Amino acid sequence: MNIHEYQGKALLKEFGAPVSRGVAIFSAEEAEAAARELGGPLWVVKSQIHAGGRGKGKFKEAEAGEKGGVRLAKSIDEVKEFASQMLGKTLVTVQTGDAGKQVNRLYIEDGSDIEKEFYLSALVDRATGSVAFVVSTEGGMDIEQVAHDTPEKIHTITVDPATGAMPHHGRAVAKALGLSGDLAKQATDLTIKLYNAFVSKDMEMLEINPLIVTTDGKLRCLDAKVSFDSNALYRHPDVQKL
Ligand code: ADP
Ligand code: MG
Repeated sequence: MNIHEYQGKALLKEFGAPVSRGVAIFSAEEAEAAARELGGPLWVVKSQIHAGGRGKGKFKEAEAGEKGGVRLAKSIDEVKEFASQMLGKTLVTVQTGDAGKQVNRLYIEDGSDIEKEFYLSALVDRATGSVAFVVSTEGGMDIEQVAHDTPEKIHTITVDPATGAMPHHGRAVAKALGLSGDLAKQATDLTIKLYNAFVSKDMEMLEINPLIVTTDGKLRCLDAKVSFDSNALYRHPDVQKL
């Protein structure tokens, strides 16, 4: 079972992982209040569908405009305009198939000033039952393509379930991402928080693409794709309700 980006981010936030502020909306009327609450000066209007590749996606309906499913807005009027264009329309991405998916929710999020985009995911290694982090400096793009073209740019860090995530795992993640100093500390801290979120919520897969460094030197989870093993849902009625 998959949950939406904004729901995934809410879970990550519970565990202390850095995510942007945002407001989920279901109608164009709610866009203005959401944008005002966030304050700007930059907002991102993000389609909430159970598929990735939204940024590079395209809407079927001409009224939705030429832009993709993730749009940068520089004014409250622009947030409102994008919201009314996108809601109810059909977004086609590399992951939706030709039929596309109807956009019934938007996440209005604080815009970040991005210095770098990385890739980070966590998944369960079925053979050993341990959690493996997969990280790459090549963020914001299709990870299968990176794996195919430049496999040396993908690093796997496996956590022994007997110890759980330790600072050395976090340091390995930081090293794989080429981070040092304070950013390496943030990466170590983030790795442990993500591990705790992953294990506590019985996630099957957690993908943060991109994990960014902001221009003011902060790591932040800019996208979140979370899926659960359906067996795990019995133990997590809170997740089941999403
Ligand atoms: P998808 O992977 O479905 O295309 P993302 O959430 O990764 O959706 O967004 C696509 C791109 O849009 C990101 O790689 C990033 O460059 C940009 N983006 C997403 N959220 C924000 C944000 N809050 N601030 C600035 N840029 C963003
Ligand atoms: Mg993404």
